[in-house]
Amino acid sequence: MVALDPGHNPVRVDGFDPVTGASQIDYPNGAEDANVFEVTTDVRELLQHNGYDVVMLKRAVTENVTYRQRVDRAVTAHARVAISIHTSPGANDVFVQRVGLYREGVGADGATLRITYRNEATAAASQRYGQAIASARTRTEGVPVMLTDNDFGGRAPLWTGNIPMIALMSDRVPWVYNEFGLDDAGGSTPLPSTWLSRYARGIADDVRTALHVDGHGCAV
Ligand SMILES: [Zn+2]
Repeated sequence: MVALDPGHNPVRVDGFDPVTGASQIDYPNGAEDANVFEVTTDVRELLQHNGYDVVMLKRAVTENVTYRQRVDRAVTAHARVAISIHTSPGANDVFVQRVGLYREGVGADGATLRITYRNEATAAASQRYGQAIASARTRTEGVPVMLTDNDFGGRAPLWTGNIPMIALMSDRVPWVYNEFGLDDAGGSTPLPSTWLSRYARGIADDVRTALHVDGHGCAV
């Protein structure tokens, strides 16, 4: 079971995660919203064709779903891996969970809160899947895709730190967060559909290898 997470919300989200206290701020981002939904439905089709079960963590471009609700959907579906799909100009990256990555900012009570990723087993699986997906994407997209940490410095009101909030909130499900972009397109600037389908193939291609599926169709 693979969970697919198609990017941003159509209406701004504020407030705090009831489990960790982390800020859940998210916002619409122009063309990215429909672009990543298209990529995600392509990935779903390619994975289902290869015998995978897929759960969509956001079911329509118009659906608003907080990060915690998305993580809960992945847990409820018993997803072995969750894949966030985003676009951003000039960014071809894969972000994973690592013990020690963190986000820090002002919590609900007005005091500074720092939340650090702690689950070693989930982080190890996230790194394995992330490395495989970065390699598959590099092959298919023809552009080097880096496995790296994010940097949220200088992006207020987002909390500072180095891991996407949704990955930080996921204690049990390994998370792999993807960015794709051309120098002059991605994010709020629409990407050509040829590149969107390449991005989808990069994530889904050779998926039996990338996600280490055994003979029973189970991720290992
Ligand atoms: Zn994004």
